Amino acid sequence: MKTPAGRECEHFYGDYFRGRNVEECRLLKSQGQEWTRDLCKTCPIPEIARANSCQYMKLKVTVGRPLAAMFQRRVLVGAFCEKSNRNVNEPQIGCGECHSLPFNFEVKE
Ligand code: SF4
Repeated sequence: MKTPAGRECEHFYGDYFRGRNVEECRLLKSQGQEWTRDLCKTCPIPEIARANSCQYMKLKVTVGRPLAAMFQRRVLVGAFCEKSNRNVNEPQIGCGECHSLPFNFEVKE
């Protein structure tokens, strides 16, 4: 479903049927975080989901005010791989256990 920021996100839920206006982020809600519409604008989750759909990677989200963002509220993401049992520094790429990098390309002549 499209978020208020206009991006597709599997965690966004909106119900506008017959005058209803219910919106929520089910990922933040499931982790006890308070969602507001402005968070979708800078949230990295849609890009992470597009880049890496690994079933073993679990995302932990918090809402915070990082110094670099000049104290604006942001969705901060931490990732953990349940297969390799380690933190994932770059969730877009993954831990490298299942899909090792760099890829080996074979050139046939
Ligand atoms: S805050 Fe992030 S995860 Fe939640 S609905 Fe918005 S874009 Fe999706």
